[in-house]
Amino acid sequence: MRYVILVLGIIISLHFILSFSHEDYGRATSISNLKNTITGAASHQPPYKAGVPEDYYYHSNGTAPGPRANAAFVILARNSDLNGIVFSMKQMEDRFNKKFQYPYVFLNDDDFSDEFKRRITALTDAKVEFGKIPRDHWYQPDWIDEEKASKARDEMVKAQVIYGGSVPYRNMCRFNSGFFFRHELLDKYKYYWRIEPDVNFYCDLDYDPFLIMQNEKKVYGFTVSLYEYETTIPTLWDAVKEFMDENPDMLQEGNALGFISDDAGGTYNRCHFWSNFEIGDLDLWRSDAYMKFFEHLDKKGGFYYERWGDAPVHSIGAALFAKKEQIHFFNDIGYKHNPFQHCPQGDAHTKGKCWCDPSDNFDYHWYSCLARYDKMFT
Ligand code: GDP
Ligand code: MN
Repeated sequence: MRYVILVLGIIISLHFILSFSHEDYGRATSISNLKNTITGAASHQPPYKAGVPEDYYYHSNGTAPGPRANAAFVILARNSDLNGIVFSMKQMEDRFNKKFQYPYVFLNDDDFSDEFKRRITALTDAKVEFGKIPRDHWYQPDWIDEEKASKARDEMVKAQVIYGGSVPYRNMCRFNSGFFFRHELLDKYKYYWRIEPDVNFYCDLDYDPFLIMQNEKKVYGFTVSLYEYETTIPTLWDAVKEFMDENPDMLQEGNALGFISDDAGGTYNRCHFWSNFEIGDLDLWRSDAYMKFFEHLDKKGGFYYERWGDAPVHSIGAALFAKKEQIHFFNDIGYKHNPFQHCPQGDAHTKGKCWCDPSDNFDYHWYSCLARYDKMFT
């Protein structure tokens, strides 16, 4: 008997060393399976580790399936972002959308130029719509004390906070936090995939992530998560706590509070999903809970008196109003937005014919929050 235990011990440690030195999900999964067969315990791991079921994969026979979910790409951009958008969108078409033909919605606070529209529509056979953002969804509201706001901006410039002095950047963060999903061009859609200029999509995506969202009842999907700069959000968590105290019944049961707080809501650990990539359910943001939450935050003025980003605001919203299982890590979507990338490992890398270097992967980097996400399920 002792001999059996010794051999098992060696096998397990070998597995451990091998898999973690290679950061290989596949093997990490097999360890927990092994543990389960030994202990007979139920599987305690994040749902994404099981991989996407084979039924979801589309094997080309030459005909495009066309959009099968009620979904669109959403791209906020200036005319000056054109080249960066073309760079991102061409990859999206080649890696995924040539086959799936989901429509695009472009939004801008200004009118899109004819050149912008021409070069964008030339990239795809899918429908493309261009919309202008209503003024009151974009500009700094009148009730913001501009003197206080401009003082705060000067302080942030001195402290060398990125975009610390920018008002348009703040408009953009507030718009993405509370308004993009109210644009009339998005009324007809349920799901969206946000794309930014100058990002990379590294892998062939042969299944439809919108169908994963729909069938598996996911409401928010991400590829990179990390810590927020403290100086951009000094009072954000106070505002969140106030909301939680005033509206305890609005918080979802089985939510992902564990991802954003290490002390059951006492403090914010600054973890957030990097919102330059998002695949989401617009109804999450349209919900009474999130609308009320955004309104509460907006009234504090922190989008202008500080520099609250849409990434922490969305992430906190998703963490409070969704069940943790409804927040999905898209492990097989290779993605880069400077300076971080998620490069699929092992089987996922092979399956997607990914061209990123697997050793350049942010997942379990010290500044990444993925381990905290994983921990919610273990
Ligand atoms: P970063 O990723 O935080 O460095 O910010 P970006 O410069 O990439 O901006 C985030 C997104 O908002 C991108 O899709 C930009 O194209 C868009 N964006 C930023 N500022 C503006 C703006 O003033 N007007 C418009 N229309 N889009 C903007
Ligand atoms: Mn960006």
